[in-house]
Amino acid sequence: LIRLDQVTKRFGQNTVLDRLDFSVNSGKHVTLIGPSGSGKTTILRLLMTLTKPDEGTITVDGEKLFPAPEKQVREVRKKIGMVFQQFNLFPNMTALRNIMEAPVTVLGMPKDEAEQRARDLLDLVGLADKCDARPSQLSGGQQQRVAIARALAMRPRVLLLDEVTSALDPELVAGVLDVLRDIARTTDITMLCVTHEMNFARDISDQVLMFDSGKVIESGPPEKIFSEPEQDRTREFLSAVL
Ligand code: ATP
Repeated sequence: LIRLDQVTKRFGQNTVLDRLDFSVNSGKHVTLIGPSGSGKTTILRLLMTLTKPDEGTITVDGEKLFPAPEKQVREVRKKIGMVFQQFNLFPNMTALRNIMEAPVTVLGMPKDEAEQRARDLLDLVGLADKCDARPSQLSGGQQQRVAIARALAMRPRVLLLDEVTSALDPELVAGVLDVLRDIARTTDITMLCVTHEMNFARDISDQVLMFDSGKVIESGPPEKIFSEPEQDRTREFLSAVL
């Protein structure tokens, strides 16, 4: 479903991704792990078209995302939803309105249909009673669950998750991860996660990719990567974070 071929990304002199190849099959849950600065977030940002590669091609669902004409990029982008470390909800809108906004304005969905869908999604993330709450009236964990519902409202094929629990107080992390585990178990959405939560990665991933200096240095099912990593670098990283 997602394919990066020979993708290079530089910031000035700094080559963040170096001729990177990787792909994610439809319905799979893939987790990117590795040290800070190894390029994980940059991959998600490339897929969200928040930044462009210097070289290489990116394909989503058989269609080019890069290089591609602007109109095609807009269409392909609709297949991808992202949840960030910071929740980025619209502060002046209720939880329900936050979730309805994009389906109504971007997809042209009728309001009553968008509202019903938003209520169902709030139910899915365990916040059925918070429809009318504004972000400032919600905890960080609740805001992040609204952000997850908002991303799902566009019915994306792919959900990108960028360290979605890093900004949360420790006691709020489990609730958000439980919601994501549920989504992974009960939907066929493809997930690409960057996380420092290794237990979560172990639970939900079909495949774990270990990054170092802009390259995948090791990949495999979580049992293998976490229990019998082949690379010294992976072993060192895991012993520092586990
Ligand atoms: P972290 O876990 O800390 O988020 P990461 O593996 O996700 O790390 P990236 O955020 O992808 O790493 O960053 C990779 C490198 O790219 C870093 O060296 C960072 O300083 C650099 N970088 C990222 N964005 C920019 C930017 N907009 N301008 C300049 N350099 C950038």
